[in-house]
Amino acid sequence: MPLTDAVLKNIQQKIENVELISEANEVGSVIESADGIARIKGLSSALNGELLEFPGKIYGTIFNLEKEEIVCAILENHTKVKEGAWVKRTGHVIGISVGKSMLGRVLNPMGDPLDGLGPLVTDAVIPLERPAPGVVDREPVRVPLQTGYKVVDALVPIGRGQRELIIGDRQTGKTTLAVDTIISQKNTGVISVYVAVGQKESTVVKLRHQLETQDALQNTIIIDAPASAPAIEQYLAPFVGCAIAEYFMYEHKKDTLVIYDDLSKHAAAYRHISLLMRRPPGREAYPGDIFYLHSRLLERAAKLSQRLGGGSMTALPIIETQGNDIAAYIPTNVISITDGQIFLEADLFNSGVRPAVNAGISVSRVGGSAQIKAIRQISGTLRIDLAQYHEKEAFSMFSSELDKETLRQLHTGATMVELLKQDKNKPLPIEEQVVSIFAGVRELLSDIPVAKILAFEAALLEHIRAKYRDILEDIQRTKELTPELAETLQSVIENYKKEFGNVAAVSH
Ligand code: ATP
Ligand code: MG
Repeated sequence: MPLTDAVLKNIQQKIENVELISEANEVGSVIESADGIARIKGLSSALNGELLEFPGKIYGTIFNLEKEEIVCAILENHTKVKEGAWVKRTGHVIGISVGKSMLGRVLNPMGDPLDGLGPLVTDAVIPLERPAPGVVDREPVRVPLQTGYKVVDALVPIGRGQRELIIGDRQTGKTTLAVDTIISQKNTGVISVYVAVGQKESTVVKLRHQLETQDALQNTIIIDAPASAPAIEQYLAPFVGCAIAEYFMYEHKKDTLVIYDDLSKHAAAYRHISLLMRRPPGREAYPGDIFYLHSRLLERAAKLSQRLGGGSMTALPIIETQGNDIAAYIPTNVISITDGQIFLEADLFNSGVRPAVNAGISVSRVGGSAQIKAIRQISGTLRIDLAQYHEKEAFSMFSSELDKETLRQLHTGATMVELLKQDKNKPLPIEEQVVSIFAGVRELLSDIPVAKILAFEAALLEHIRAKYRDILEDIQRTKELTPELAETLQSVIENYKKEFGNVAAVSH
């Protein structure tokens, strides 16, 4: 049928006559309430995700619309919702009040402060879920988001707007890497949101303290749904963090970084809720839509077009593996939704390689184009050095006679592995990383014993900061290593080596 004026008018009239909330269906009643889940009859026109109100200003959100009943998760004070109680539609989806005053605060997923620093001043309410920006609203990832870790920024670079997974077993440094990335943002204008799901309260208190002492708390918001919180709060927390980052990205045109620590516990919370709702369990007892849930969340990371203000949201989801098994259900799901992964390995961690990044299998599919040229110029050699080292390392164990070239490669590789180690809470600005890696790939460190590499690096950087600030500033400004700059840097390092040799000799 052609869209004539008459047809359009007819459609318009029909739209105007639809009432969003029909009076007859507005109030229903609770037929069962247990474990934070309420089953409701009535409210036949309610929508999935809609917020419902119970007596005493208690709210719940709809998860399942079934033929006979509605299943809803109660947000707070669920024990007060009794069988037979009334329940009303609100006509709204679940949202959160937001404002700039959230910066520096620790909040629960309802937006209530947990840090005892008084109430928040908010200026808008935004939905927890909103569609991800489409292709025309996005721009390619071009600006780096530096973690401050040499091994990551050189070999697995992250760009603003990217989704990079941090994955590894328990106690392999996942949280430390994420938190140090926040610390690295302190002078960049990037706003960070750290979402803690199912962690100990003491862990989050420590983390807040760390950010505060490193001057990074004022640009950070912490959303905490600890292990002791109801599953529904743990389920909502990542969406709350994402919505807050979106608010800063869209309304304030900011670059944002959001960390989900971790999505394994988030998946477990969702499984728990779904089983209580008696939804049919799927693989590993997770509900069938768990993949969709995580993809919906992570797709909202973006680099926005200039028309939308050019802000961005970089997402670093964290996944905990069991026994390095990255092929389990939730890890494979999240691997397939992200733009790359940083693998942290317990073996490396325990042998003292920290951060325990397995550079051979970690990847970043979009970050390379965001890397500054100076790092790109030297990271190629670094990658080759490491690859040759790992290849030769394996067979050198079985061979007693090695040729000179193999010995050289082994030594260079061992030097590089040592040089890429980095203590926690000491992120390095990119220009200093360039100096360190340059010294390594130019083989200027080959005559320094491996055990002394890190001490030399620290002293060299201190020396350059004190006497050759212009070199650092040049790299910062031009973002590349011109042949002249490389030459100057090389002679500064060589000269300093003599000085360091004397200092080292004296200190013996
Ligand atoms: P969990 O699985 O318990 O969440 P995780 O993988 O998040 O652990 P972290 O808590 O970040 O690991 O780190 C584990 C321990 O290793 C901590 O004590 C941390 O201080 C230490 N650690 C992490 N990274 C480094 C590093 N680069 N240098 C020195 N110590 C580190
Ligand atoms: Mg952790």
